[in-house]
Amino acid sequence: MSERLDVLAVEVWLTRFGAVFAATRELLDDLDRQSGDGDFGTNLEAAMERVADGLAESPPETPGAALSTVATAFMHTGGTSGPLFGMWFAQLARAAGAEAEIGLAELAAGAEAGLAGIQRLGGAKPGDKTMVDAMAPAAEALASAVASGASLAAGLAATAAAARSGAQATEPMLARRGRASYVGEAARGVMDPGALTVALLFESALPGEAPAVPGSHTLS
Ligand code: ADP
Ligand code: MG
Repeated sequence: MSERLDVLAVEVWLTRFGAVFAATRELLDDLDRQSGDGDFGTNLEAAMERVADGLAESPPETPGAALSTVATAFMHTGGTSGPLFGMWFAQLARAAGAEAEIGLAELAAGAEAGLAGIQRLGGAKPGDKTMVDAMAPAAEALASAVASGASLAAGLAATAAAARSGAQATEPMLARRGRASYVGEAARGVMDPGALTVALLFESALPGEAPAVPGSHTLS
């Protein structure tokens, strides 16, 4: 794996994410059904289609332009998660700027700004059982990878692992934000679909095999 991602590498990442998302969509809808209203996968699949259309219609010349297309696609998506993801990707695009290639430093800066934006907008803290529970450890892992001078591959692997543990940790939590907070104990034992999506996104950046779709033990 090269030390920086050019626009093609970012597009490959996004395409893999689209495929993994589609393969996990039913599970994501089911998790949202048990803890909210069940529209999560449908909402985000519409966003992913707009991402694919946007990239095909106006092929981006930089990673920042590709990430801006993703941000716009998610901003125009229904549900709580669409605009939140949109704002997160917009911060990643901003950190990528007009550079021809991005590395861990840009990803770390974007993930930190994106997390701050989401928390400002939605008020969720770690432990509230939301996407923040995967985004915060992912941002921390990126920052430590930058600080320790880790390779891109090692930094992304550590980030994906941090996001996955963060998502898994939402399972036993009681939700304090979003629709899941209305169902109380019923959502205990159900992984937060937003947090799982963050794990899938970072896992899609890893070279090699497609990320594993989590087991169905959380399904009822
Ligand atoms: P809705 O509840 O409007 O149907 P979605 O189904 O699109 O929203 O998204 C649900 C996801 O949104 C949850 O899994 C959670 O990760 C995330 N979420 C909900 N509220 C917040 C919040 N205040 N801050 C961050 N993320 C949130
Ligand atoms: Mg929902």
